[in-house]
Amino acid sequence: MILTNEHGAPEAFVRAIQNDPYTKDGADFSVTELIKPPQVRRLWNEHETEISVDVSDEMFKLLGKGVHNVLEQHGPDGSTTEQRFHADHNGVSVSGAVDLIEADGSITDYKVTSTFSVLRGLKVDWERQLNLYGWLLRQNGITATKLTIVALCRDWTKSKVGNKNYPSSMVVVMAVPLWREGRQDDYLDQRIRAHTQEATLPCTVEERWARGAYQVNGKGRPRSFDTMGEATTFINMQKSGNFKIVPGNAKYVRCEGWCEVSPWCPQWNGGK
Ligand code: SF4
Repeated sequence: MILTNEHGAPEAFVRAIQNDPYTKDGADFSVTELIKPPQVRRLWNEHETEISVDVSDEMFKLLGKGVHNVLEQHGPDGSTTEQRFHADHNGVSVSGAVDLIEADGSITDYKVTSTFSVLRGLKVDWERQLNLYGWLLRQNGITATKLTIVALCRDWTKSKVGNKNYPSSMVVVMAVPLWREGRQDDYLDQRIRAHTQEATLPCTVEERWARGAYQVNGKGRPRSFDTMGEATTFINMQKSGNFKIVPGNAKYVRCEGWCEVSPWCPQWNGGK
């Protein structure tokens, strides 16, 4: 990866980004890799030496690492922090580092994120990540009893407290549904297949962080939604009327500004 510094960040920031200690410790996949779109991972592996990333685009990651580094030193009594676990599934090795495991089997993952993200509710990827940790721990003889996301809202503003649904604190604790074991097993198996099958799967609308991917036509003006789930929820809440979901005029936020492999992506460049 080529690291640029177009906005002249001080040397200490550049070095912090360069010395990223991220490792999957020899495993074929990390849990976070498994959740990623297979196309992103494959293009990344194919073009790793050509990919260019600016220091300024890595600042949110640096902020997240700083928070993790502090919190891992202050786990409750009897807990383990930032411990990496390994397991195999049909000859494929998987690893994952869990932020906090308490003595009663409660698992916590810390996220440094925007208040907007938190206001949108629990992300499906967070639920998937924590349940894959549940799978990983089970392979290591530990039963997960409770899953929690603790979100630190990096742009939280005190003056907005009192606005509709605005969090009353910068730290928001979110309960995560704990899947039954069979569902965790199936999801793990499905993700390994998605990443190891010969043909590369195109990214889904959700993986591309589409805005306005679905349009609901019917009573009143057309309404735009980001996900099929949001569109169907809207329809289900209406008292009467005939509605139809059609493709919207989507804006692909990830492809446009947050995907390092977009210059080599046939789906994105073909679509343009
Ligand atoms: S540019 Fe978009 S479609 Fe292509 S790999 Fe990235 S997220 Fe997926």
